[in-house]
Amino acid sequence: MEGMLGTPEATRLLRTTQLRVTRPRVSVLEQLQHHPHSDVDTVAQLVRAELGKVSTQAVYDVLKALTSAGLVRRIEPAGSPARYEIRVGDNHHHVVCRACGEISDVECAVGERPCLHASNDHGYVIDEAEVIYWGVCPACQVTGEVVDEPRTDAQLRAEPAQRHTK
Ligand SMILES: [Zn+2]
Ligand SMILES: [Zn+2]
Repeated sequence: MEGMLGTPEATRLLRTTQLRVTRPRVSVLEQLQHHPHSDVDTVAQLVRAELGKVSTQAVYDVLKALTSAGLVRRIEPAGSPARYEIRVGDNHHHVVCRACGEISDVECAVGERPCLHASNDHGYVIDEAEVIYWGVCPACQVTGEVVDEPRTDAQLRAEPAQRHTK
């Protein structure tokens, strides 16, 4: 299957960094290949199923090291624990289901950072716009899952007003 990571590929990726190749690191990369956008608990369960006794803290440390090394991307949709994926470096966005929290990849709208241009950059050199699309996934549309408190982008709109300007 194209794009399958497999142990040799995970090992090769680790060798491109300063990180030592360890079984937990290889396993975490493999699990994220098959289960993108997993949170630390999910990754820990998957790693334990493969390697046996590995603590959630150890998996968290592995994820942190892999993220620092640039092999893993960490995303934090509002109201959700941090999620991890190995698709890095392409500035893709995410669409999140308001009802069940399911996350899918969306290609970058423009194709490169920062994707959106700020109407006022306040003199900053802006290199990223964090874009998250919110909606209801196909499965939840079918079950008619009720979304009692839809998140709005009111927070986003309110932000510039709260910003302190000198
Ligand atoms: Zn859903
Ligand atoms: Zn993604």
